[in-house]
Parts: sequence; structure tokens; C-alpha cells
Amino acid sequence: MLLVLSLLVLAAVSMPWGPPAHGSGESDFAAQREDMVRTQLKGLFRKAIQDRSVIQAMLKVPRHLFIPAGNRDWAYADSPVPIGYGQTISQPYIVALMTEALKLQPGMKVLEVGTGSGYQAAVLAEITPNVYTIEIIKALYQRAEATLKKFGYETVVVRQGDGYFGIEEFAPYDAIIVTCAAQHVPPPLFDQLKTGGRMVIPVGGSFETQRLLLVTKDEEGKRRSETLELVRFVPLVRSVRE
Ligand code: SAH
Repeated sequence: MLLVLSLLVLAAVSMPWGPPAHGSGESDFAAQREDMVRTQLKGLFRKAIQDRSVIQAMLKVPRHLFIPAGNRDWAYADSPVPIGYGQTISQPYIVALMTEALKLQPGMKVLEVGTGSGYQAAVLAEITPNVYTIEIIKALYQRAEATLKKFGYETVVVRQGDGYFGIEEFAPYDAIIVTCAAQHVPPPLFDQLKTGGRMVIPVGGSFETQRLLLVTKDEEGKRRSETLELVRFVPLVRSVRE
């Protein structure tokens, strides 16, 4: 019994670091994607993702095409993957957990802060066409905009700038997802959230464990928050990089 338990624990701990076990043809990537959904989104030791629209989206979006070619073999691993410029694409489970927490319906308007590779924006766009995303690093912004267009996510509006201020032009939003860790919930983002809206945001110091918060705006405009998970995200920075 003890042996079985420790093997299970070892399996859980070693999973993110396991070497990619597949080749790299397109059908093989599709098989890896199915594995990812089956083992990581509904796996042991975590709260299973229930929302069908999130599961469908993650089955569909070709995550490997959002990752620089040299790192593609890691695209469906249970871990974040480097995307250049010191940034990472989030672990698939965290993408699913955050998307599910938004309770998105088709037609809702959603803002993402931290476009990175564009992958999270594509997952959102599988659920609603009204996706707005902002990235502070110019090269990532340009690459993500091109990738999203190339793979059929033309409705996603991509901007470059400091997402601390949201994108006022298209506010208010039904949902806001922040994919970099902030020191506090940026007031401009809370202002741009509709009454009844939902925001998911990691809050805490750089490169330490942060709290993934679900922030909601009630009928009186008051803020409520709850912690969903402990996470590690790259920091929300404040200087725009050319
Ligand atoms: N959601 C992304 C991963 C994001 S990594 C994906 O699916 O690939 C976090 C991103 O936030 C990085 O690209 C980083 O450059 C960006 N970022 C950091 N601070 C920001 C800010 N103030 N405004 C907008 N983007 C920011």
C-alpha cells in the first residue's frame, strides 16, 4: 500500500518534467492534445475542469503552433513553456482553470492582459468572438497578432501597451483575465468590469507564490474576491518594451 502510494506521489511530482513521448506530425500533435485534456484537465490530484466549452476549446486550439519551433515538443507537457523574451505560456491546466472561472458565454466581451503567445486569447475566442488582448512587449505583440490571424482567430483585437490600464476604448467587459502577476488588483481594470462581471488575476510578488484571485463586481459595484489556487506567474511590468 505504501509502495503504491509513493509511486503515485512520484508520478504526480514527475509528470511536469517527463520527456515528450511523441513524434511531431500534425496528427500526433492532435493525439497529444487529447492526452493533455484527458490526463491534465480531468486528472488526479486536481479539481477537474467541468465546463464543456473550455474542454472543447482546449481540444481544438493547436497549442504547439503558438510556441516557438524549438520548444514545440514540450507544447502539451504539464508545465509552462518558454516563448522568448523571458516570458512563458501558462501550463494547460491553469489556462483551463482561469478560463472556466470566467463563466464565459458566446457573445460576451472579454479582456486579456498579457497576450504572450496568443494561445490563451485563441482559447477565449473559441468561446466568444469578442476578445481584446494587450501585450507590453512589442515583439510578442507582433508575433501573437500574426499567429492569431494565421490560424483563423481574426476577430481577436490585439494591442500593444501597459495592460494595467486595460483597454478603455472597448470597456466595459463581462470578463477580464490577467495572465501576469500584479502587486494588487489594478483599479482601472476593476473600473472596466461590468456589474456582475468576473476577473481572474494572480496577485503577489514577482517570482514567488501568488494567489490566483477571482474578483467579482456585485450589483452595488462592490468588489468581492476569493482565492482559487496558488500559482506562479511572470510579473506584470510597467514599462513598455520596444
Ligand atoms: N497569456 C499568455 C502568456 C502570458 S505570459 C499566453 O497564452 O501565451 C505574461 C505576458 O504578460 C508576457 O508576455 C508579458 O510580456 C506580459 N505583460 C507583463 N506585464 C504586462 C503589462 N503591464 N501589460 C500587458 N502585458 C504585460
